Formats: sequence, C-alpha cells, structure tokens
Amino acid sequence: MVQLKTPTEIIKMQKAGRVVALVFAALSDVIRPGVSTYELDRIADQVIRGEGAVPSFLNYGTPPFPASICVSINDEVVHGIPSRQRILQEGDIVSVDAGALLDGFHGDAARTYPVGIISPEKEQLIRVTEECFWIGYEQCKIGSRVGDVSSAIAQHAESFGYGVVRELTGHGIGRQLHEDPDIPNYGRKGHGLRIVSGLVIAIEPMINMGRKEIRLQDDEWTIVTIDGKPSSHYENTIAITPEGPLVTTKVDL
Ligand code: MG
Repeated sequence: MVQLKTPTEIIKMQKAGRVVALVFAALSDVIRPGVSTYELDRIADQVIRGEGAVPSFLNYGTPPFPASICVSINDEVVHGIPSRQRILQEGDIVSVDAGALLDGFHGDAARTYPVGIISPEKEQLIRVTEECFWIGYEQCKIGSRVGDVSSAIAQHAESFGYGVVRELTGHGIGRQLHEDPDIPNYGRKGHGLRIVSGLVIAIEPMINMGRKEIRLQDDEWTIVTIDGKPSSHYENTIAITPEGPLVTTKVDL
C-alpha cells in the first residue's frame, strides 16, 4: 500500500535526505586510487551518526547487510560490501549507495564516481546514468504515471545501447526504506500508478554498459553484470508536491 506523506513528514524527509547528501559531500573529497571501500564506509558512518541519524543499510535484509553503505566497483551493479581488501584503482568507477534514518524517516541516494582518470566510455556511462535520473525526475508531475517515468529512463539509456537492469527498481520510501510503489527503470508510457501529491519515491537508474542481465555473487549481496562490463548507479529521493518534484537528498534544504 502506498503511504502518502504530509507536508510535515516531507520536511522530516528533507532532513534525513540532507544527511545522505552530506555523506556524498564527504566521500567526493576522498575517493581516489589507494583508498579501501572499508575506509569509505567508516567515513560515511561517521557523517551519518554525527548528524544524529542511523545508517539505513546496516543490518538490513537477509542475511543482514554488514556495513553502513554499499560500495560497488566496475561490474558490480549494486550492494557491494565494503572491505579492507577492496582498494580503489586508477580507472575504476565506484558506485556508493547511502541511506540515513532520522526522526523516523529515511533518505536514500546513490552516486557513481570516477577513480582518477577513467576511459571516455566509462565517463559517458556515468553521465548518461545521471541524465536518466533527471529525465525520470522531469516526468514526476502530478497526474503522470509511473510508466511515464520508467519508459523515459529506459528510452534514454537504450538510445546509447546500454542495458537497463530489470530485477532491481526504485521504490517508495518513508518510515520504511523500501515502500510501495516499485519504480522500474523500464516500462510503458501511460501505464502504472498515477503520480499524486505526497508520493515520495527513490528513482535509481542502474545502467549497464553491456547486457542488462545480472547475477548475485556468493556473498548473497553483491550484484554483478553477467558480461563483466561496468555498471553505473544514480539515485535521489524525491517528494511530489503541488509545486513539482522536490529532491530531498540534497545538502541545502
Ligand atoms: Mg534505493
């Protein structure tokens, strides 16, 4: 069931979203060759707890996710587990997914960063994945449908020959990290749930340079592309308001 949010609740969600944005502000300064994904996790955890929030992902799911953020390198699509043994290398791309729970509400966002100098092909993948988010965002008008958002995202990614991940989707968000409705990154224009004021969703294109198919690794969390080609992820939490869609996961409220 979709839980619409009141204006007061949306203000709380902006405060939770700000904490998530602060994580990215901190990490963008430290992501470089030689840094372990464990170090990124520790910095993110400090930022989140320093704001009086709790990391949404720690102990989430089955088996319980063992870290405060997801860090996914190159062919890892999402849900990579931070590790002291995973050291960022020149030319990698690294996706960070972070969530924070503050005053009863979650924020959720993801960014993909270059590590040092990366190939033009990887640059384009990162850029187009972010563009997919903003193209979806622009479709989030009251009276539109989820399928309008989904189809616009897929159309943009596929116009570059990229694979759009099917098995994982964006989602409603609020008191729970994952609420109804699902927000797929593919779909049919004019179909699906109608977008109304008070709907709060995370839109999160997961775009593969090659094939769309993915598989789960033995750690039961990390999702990788089936062809070993890189994948990019970009996400924000947005609230639908009468004035238009509002990104909650940003530093300035
Ligand atoms: Mg999400």
